Amino acid sequence: MSKNTLELKPISSWIKAKRPLIISGPCSAETEEQTIATAKQLAATGKVDALRAGIWKPRTRPGQYEGAGDIGLQWLMQAKKETGLPVTTEVANATHVEAALKAGVDILWVGARTTVNPFSVQEVADALKGVDIPVMVKNPVNPDLELWIGALERLNRAGITKLAAIHRGFSSFEKGPFRNLPMWDMAIELKTKFPELDIICDPSHIAGNRELIAMISQKALDLDMAGLMIESHINPDAAWSDAKQQVTPANLAKIVDGLVVRSVSSDNKIFKDTLSVLREQIDQLDDDIMTKMAARMKISEKIGSYKKENNVTILQVNRWEEIIQTRVAMAKAMGIDEGFMRDLLRLMHHESIQVQTKIMNKVEARV
Ligand code: PEP
Ligand code: MN
Repeated sequence: MSKNTLELKPISSWIKAKRPLIISGPCSAETEEQTIATAKQLAATGKVDALRAGIWKPRTRPGQYEGAGDIGLQWLMQAKKETGLPVTTEVANATHVEAALKAGVDILWVGARTTVNPFSVQEVADALKGVDIPVMVKNPVNPDLELWIGALERLNRAGITKLAAIHRGFSSFEKGPFRNLPMWDMAIELKTKFPELDIICDPSHIAGNRELIAMISQKALDLDMAGLMIESHINPDAAWSDAKQQVTPANLAKIVDGLVVRSVSSDNKIFKDTLSVLREQIDQLDDDIMTKMAARMKISEKIGSYKKENNVTILQVNRWEEIIQTRVAMAKAMGIDEGFMRDLLRLMHHESIQVQTKIMNKVEARV
């Protein structure tokens, strides 16, 4: 198992921005006019710290708009010139890296379809050796934390220390309200493993539609994410890619204005004292829950032995159904979320079956 260490410089050391950092701009640079007009309107809101635009677009199916290519880089650099804002674009191979560096792009990002492929990430990392440029790494399309970490490590080993992660959700066969499932736990787990790593949320690609962007952005900030990357376009409905999820610069400003920015701690003495009392209560309750859980497992062991003596199967569907029904009804009455209770019961039942299986299969020592 490799160690969890990354040598990192925080976002605040590589871009002049308040917290949360706001990156915005079109999914794709389509024309010079669209790129520059969007950038100017964004800059005029005063809410944006960096401009984004895709120049090379990884499209799932061929025949869709695949980006303007090198000429788009010139539009992006012109947008920078006219607004004074730093610019960022996606790179997926060494050719993209060379072109972006040559044009003077300030920040690069690695897209979700690239993060899944260690060969591609390594190619990007190798092309960046000796270059001191910030790179943001989107999560892979599939929920594999190791791949996300692996991509960050490859870049870090190539000498990139101005690194951040972008959480853009995970694709799923199930169709729900989101284009990509947020699976917030993945981002929380990454932050837990690398507390120094800044994570930026991309609510546009999680949502897939503009209505959910504000809600997802707030959730990201409440999870202490460092910034947001939100797609915007002067005329979203006419966008050549990701039309449904883009917002106008004016709406981007409204979304940012509506965000509640909370801090991770407070120096207020009353707040701190109250919090520590509440945390002590939580600690005590966790102790109680664990003691009860251990007692419950001991009884499972006894049941296992008893079933073994009487040659009875471990799983008894009727009993399991009865447990679910009664507990879920009780949980509901007590104001506990039904889904949470089902998940918890499933976990406990699984563990109880494991314990009983071990007992059933224990070979008695021969005398
Ligand atoms: C994008 O940012 O436009 C993009 C292609 O994103 P992702 O890699 O998250 O799909
Ligand atoms: Mn997009």
